[in-house]
Amino acid sequence: MAQLTNTRPTAELQALDAAHHMHPFTHGAELGQKGARIITSADGCWLTDSEGNRILDGMAGLWCVNIGYGRQELVDSATRQMSELPFYNTFFQTSHLPAIQLAERLAQLAPGDLDHVFFASSGSEANDTNIRLVRTYWEMKGEPQRRAIISRWNAYHGSSVGSGSLGGMKGMHAQGGLPIPDIHHIDQPNWWSEGGEMSEHDFGIARARQLEEKILELGPENVAAFIAEPVQGAGGVIVPPESYWPEVSRIVKEYGILLIADEVICGFGRTGNWFGSQTVGIEPDIMTVAKGLSSGYLPIGGSIVSSDVASVIGGGEFNHGYTYSGHPVAAAVALENLRLLDEEGIVTRVREETGPYLKEKFESLAEHPMVGEAKIVGMMGSIALTPDKARRAAFKADAGTVGYLCRERCFANNLVMRHVGDRMIISPPLVISKEEIDALIARAWKSLDEAMVEAK
Ligand code: PLP
Repeated sequence: MAQLTNTRPTAELQALDAAHHMHPFTHGAELGQKGARIITSADGCWLTDSEGNRILDGMAGLWCVNIGYGRQELVDSATRQMSELPFYNTFFQTSHLPAIQLAERLAQLAPGDLDHVFFASSGSEANDTNIRLVRTYWEMKGEPQRRAIISRWNAYHGSSVGSGSLGGMKGMHAQGGLPIPDIHHIDQPNWWSEGGEMSEHDFGIARARQLEEKILELGPENVAAFIAEPVQGAGGVIVPPESYWPEVSRIVKEYGILLIADEVICGFGRTGNWFGSQTVGIEPDIMTVAKGLSSGYLPIGGSIVSSDVASVIGGGEFNHGYTYSGHPVAAAVALENLRLLDEEGIVTRVREETGPYLKEKFESLAEHPMVGEAKIVGMMGSIALTPDKARRAAFKADAGTVGYLCRERCFANNLVMRHVGDRMIISPPLVISKEEIDALIARAWKSLDEAMVEAK
């Protein structure tokens, strides 16, 4: 059997890692100097590293381990499925039980008439599917000129060429020739950083109207779709003003363009409902899902589409697919994960019990002298670090440095919190207990204190 039992000291593993392993979104030289933190096991909301430290995971891995670590039921469902049918494809009129059952379950859970699923192995792949889906939809409806897809600056929709183009991360566009043609971006609804003198309400309306302006600039007859996360995650957990989504909904309906809700982070209980679309009150034509679908135990994602989109696309052959679309083992694990989330009342608990508790505690971080605002929806939240609360100022000269310092202090205090520029973000496993929430807030506060001293 391939040997995974470790007998080597941490420093040696770190050197090997730096020598041979290219990491996503990691500075190579820094990795060589500092070495990666090596995670060896996990249970519930807690990680253990190669030095034996117990670390509270405030990020659910990468926004995905919604059910928490160490669930034997998911291991058993994978083992069973691997023995029975480890792989078969879903191309050319073949199917299998796990894909059929998971599609049925997702159609039950999804809002409105979203009742068909096209499977992928990740959010990036699913968003690439979406680009082709919406353009093919309009081609099949006799409007092939509708190719433009509108997205938002600072959005994250994945790292492939297509999904990276949909995203609005300028650092990503700067590498490798992104974006592909016919993708357009408007500004994000980040009132704290970009709202100036406007009220939150007016700013939300103004940012939504940028969508209308962009549609008119491109010509409504040329626009295929608008894509957005109900609550932006990787951009820094930007909770939009309440006025934003109702106005966006009006605009997409008025101009008859498709709405794609990227639920890769917001889906499967993260915002206190099964989907973020339900939390912010929108009716998408397509939802992108991944991450929490299997709680990250195996890679699986997909596009859940409306009966209208499915029937138009189904009128012909969609020349698109991945070897692992609907992978039986990943689908079986996802199905079991959805069963547990449902039967254990985990989504309801986020909405009614632990979510409100976390909100109260998390918002108290705004009393810290270095924190401007603390915003949270369900179990995804962020704090804005500021040298001057009244002016909503940023640490301009070296943006990101204070956030980085904070993240390092959190790490040292055995808490995983991420930073995006000068915003610190959390997205813990949905099973986090009240005691663990208390520990998270106490460690975050301590880390902020220490970072503030270091920043001076
Ligand atoms: N969409 C959103 C909103 C995401 O947050 C992510 C990943 O963080 C993706 C898409 C890409 O998903 P994946 O990393 O599974 O390709």
